[in-house]
Amino acid sequence: MDSQNWLHPRDEMVATMDRIYRYHMTTTSGGNLSILDPDGSIWITPSRVDKGSLRAADIVRVAADGTREGLHPPSSEFPFHREIYRRRPDLKAIVHAHPGALVAFSIVRRLPETRVQTHGHQLCGRIAYAAYACPGSEELGAKIAEAFAGGADCVMLENHGVVIGGRDLAEAFQRFETLEFVAQTVIRASALGGLRTLPENNLAGLAVPEMGELAPAPVTHRERELRGEVCAFAHRAYRQRLMISTAGAISARLDADGFVITPRRRDRLNLQPGSLVRATATAAEAGKRASRVSRLHGLIYAANPDVGAVINAQPMCASAFCMSAADFSSRTIPESYLVLGDAPKVPFACVARDAEALAARMSIRRCPVLLIENEGALIVGRTLLEAFDRLEVLEATAEALQLSRPLGPLVPMPDSALAELRRAFGME
Ligand SMILES: [Zn+2]
Repeated sequence: MDSQNWLHPRDEMVATMDRIYRYHMTTTSGGNLSILDPDGSIWITPSRVDKGSLRAADIVRVAADGTREGLHPPSSEFPFHREIYRRRPDLKAIVHAHPGALVAFSIVRRLPETRVQTHGHQLCGRIAYAAYACPGSEELGAKIAEAFAGGADCVMLENHGVVIGGRDLAEAFQRFETLEFVAQTVIRASALGGLRTLPENNLAGLAVPEMGELAPAPVTHRERELRGEVCAFAHRAYRQRLMISTAGAISARLDADGFVITPRRRDRLNLQPGSLVRATATAAEAGKRASRVSRLHGLIYAANPDVGAVINAQPMCASAFCMSAADFSSRTIPESYLVLGDAPKVPFACVARDAEALAARMSIRRCPVLLIENEGALIVGRTLLEAFDRLEVLEATAEALQLSRPLGPLVPMPDSALAELRRAFGME
């Protein structure tokens, strides 16, 4: 899958813990990771070592017979890691942490609602609860492992946090990050009021468009340039928390009907130019899996010669509006109105199956930003930077709207101010 899987377990664990800590999904004292080695030993993060400065040498290895190798004692939660591997032989890696939104669900004893979004629901699967027990105890290990044995890959711990398993550490991390992100979004949407969930038939599977195969073509310098730029914007979107490892797609126009687009099921932070896919509305580079929004992007490029880049994203503040009954407004500050236009919200539509209807709405002048209920934002720009700026302004506007709510009702800019802005900035 990703290049990260070629890393030594020690290095992979340090890189993963660094990501969890950097993006505020653990504190220095909370959380631990492990990998089950094919020889039956368990690589695990150490007890009482600063998560902000973990080194490969700090990782501990506990052999199947209990002998240890390493500079520190293993995490005090080692018993539950060992017990989960014993009960679920398909799991090869475990992430445990106390991230804010999942702890919020844990301390009110509710399961995070994932039926708000097809992608998150599919990825996180069934979520179970494990009753409270003292950290580090055999009793806690037994309770958590019992919940995993029932088939769940995500287990919430009462008044504690979450434990998530995967076939490798990349999968466990991606599930963990996605669940925390969905939980963050659901909390924001609940605060806005009228949380919307999707019916079962829209949650059943992720539709992927049928695509033909593009004939091989020589790689132009323009394509090389675009591949590098799309990767750079994907990494930037990740670092700005506008995308997560498993969600969000970016494409850029190559020629009249061709474009390069991010692939399906690849960690957005590890994208390399070679992993992007050359595509049109009907076909994609042989042997590669283009994003499932590939056809949608192709239809937008075909109908809009002035569109140079398209983005789908689910940042948490903007997505909260997509998942609640609350109206989004871009009439907040001049920047928001000028960059986003009206940014209308439309009923749920599938980015693969309903691509024609969604593409027909998009236009640089009339509708550069569309909010799709229980899906996220669809954004177009003349350039990658313009589309990325729209994504950033959208999330900043949604955040300001949410922050303003406890202070008082929104005072939107009046029609006269909007008309003046349109005249002054040539939007008519
Ligand atoms: Zn813990």
